[in-house]
Amino acid sequence: MQVVEGKRWKMDDKEKQFSQMMASIAEIGIEQILPHEVCEVICVKCGKRWISVHPERTLLKELECPNCGQGYVIKTGQLLFEDEVEDDC
Ligand SMILES: [Zn+2]
Repeated sequence: MQVVEGKRWKMDDKEKQFSQMMASIAEIGIEQILPHEVCEVICVKCGKRWISVHPERTLLKELECPNCGQGYVIKTGQLLFEDEVEDDC
């Protein structure tokens, strides 16, 4: 019984650490620690191209053209870093 309580105490301690970690992540901002994607995108409506840096989970339809707003942005497929060509494939 004591052993079980001991284990439970450790669990609580880990949970405490976890919640502290989550709190510090919240302070930093979750967007900052997520992996980001850098790619060239183009607005199919106005033809504007730019380099977009956004969290990987962001959908292309969520990207916003400065001129036209959301829903017109697609990736051009332009390779930005020659180093990455072999790594990704
Ligand atoms: Zn546009």
